[in-house]
Amino acid sequence: MEDVENAARPDPRVSHTSHSGYHCFDHEARTHRTSLSEGRPDEWRTTRHSGMIRVQTTDQERPCVRLTTFFKRVLNLTSPIQAVTLENDGDSRPIVVIDVKSRARRLRCGGCERKCRRRHGAEGKVRSWRHLGLFGIAVKLRAEVYRVVCKGCGVRTTSVPWGRPGSVFTRQFEDEVAWFLQHTDQTSTATYFGISWVTAGKIAQRVVAEKLDGSLLEDLHFIGVDEISYGRPKKFLTVVVDHERGRVVWAAEGKSSETLGQFFQVLGPERSSRIEVVTMDMSGAYIKSVAEHAPNAEIVFDRFHVVRLLLDAVDEVRREQQRALEGANDRKVLKKSRFSLLKNPWSLTRKEEQKLAAIQFNNRPLYRAYLLKESFQSIYDSRTVEEADEGFTEWYGWARRSQLRPFVSLAETLRHYWPGIRRFIELRITNGPVEGYNSKIRMISHRAFGFHSANALIAMIMLLCSGITLSPLGHGNALHTL
Ligand SMILES: [Zn+2]
Repeated sequence: MEDVENAARPDPRVSHTSHSGYHCFDHEARTHRTSLSEGRPDEWRTTRHSGMIRVQTTDQERPCVRLTTFFKRVLNLTSPIQAVTLENDGDSRPIVVIDVKSRARRLRCGGCERKCRRRHGAEGKVRSWRHLGLFGIAVKLRAEVYRVVCKGCGVRTTSVPWGRPGSVFTRQFEDEVAWFLQHTDQTSTATYFGISWVTAGKIAQRVVAEKLDGSLLEDLHFIGVDEISYGRPKKFLTVVVDHERGRVVWAAEGKSSETLGQFFQVLGPERSSRIEVVTMDMSGAYIKSVAEHAPNAEIVFDRFHVVRLLLDAVDEVRREQQRALEGANDRKVLKKSRFSLLKNPWSLTRKEEQKLAAIQFNNRPLYRAYLLKESFQSIYDSRTVEEADEGFTEWYGWARRSQLRPFVSLAETLRHYWPGIRRFIELRITNGPVEGYNSKIRMISHRAFGFHSANALIAMIMLLCSGITLSPLGHGNALHTL
């Protein structure tokens, strides 16, 4: 082990930075740009010994291999390495550049990986790919790529085994970024890897495109559809989740019935006809699309969306009351009351409880709105459907008489959709997964201010919510996967 260390690190007494800015590994540092493989062969050697590769100087009498061979083995490259150089990047930080010899034979298209031929007369171009750092120093692979003519894609550059098409990073680097995106926030990921948010989003898109196969759309019986808003001005995504397996299976830009229609088109008529239940909010667009494309599916309105309508109605009453009490002394009671009114009673803090008690005492209409919201929620705890029916009839009458405009109109909406709301109670669907996904997706879209495109946001949602498993490379998983 000690030998490896000695060889991989230049001796500080003899190495120097040459005029051209290259840091030389060469023992005597005689030329400006000397790389490991070009050094004196009897000085820098590695040995193969009982399946192990050792870097050593030739004082010890054992058969040796070159240090470039050592790197080739470490990186598990199929192509030979020409040189390993320590250079400076623009900000005079050290960077290890590994020059890989391109293979002129067996060329593949960088777009589709199909075999193709080199474009006649065109020169090769040198490109580099950022790889995972080595001892905290940045690492780049550098190689010559050729232009090829592909039957499907036209003129493209050749594909390289270590990088995805169109990327300036190695596949391992991108997988590691994606693992970080799954487990921590984007800012930490971007800072750690020294990349921008936009780059992180693009990496997520490439990883998702490669890792997702068609299996997500197989065997769907019980799905949920939801619209997600993002960005300013507000834009929308339509997201489809598989309730049985608890994962996101599809997402696209827009929230119209045509948007959801695209999903059914991808699914095809046969698989669409096997869908039994679709949960959703009470939006006419999705109902229309499901009726059109999935003839056997039953539409169920999930608790999460019904509760959201109730919360909106309470909030509207609160604002109305606030406007009505303009300048009056009672208005103070309503100040900062929003959370006390909207939270579940069991999660209120002491202060919020006091706020609620003050509202009960001072503002009857608003307290009535609060009770209407709470009592509708208790319908969901009914043991039988008949009990729920009874509960709803009572609630409907009360809401109609409440003299609260938002609740009068909400009562009509809920009565119209009651069969689908009731079905949710009948099927005993637990609301947990629906709510879990909704909050997770909303968290991603709130954080995603840096994403300008819907595609980057969709990739983030798929990366985090559709069950893609990646393993971190931190403790040795990198070997033999490049
Ligand atoms: Zn191609």
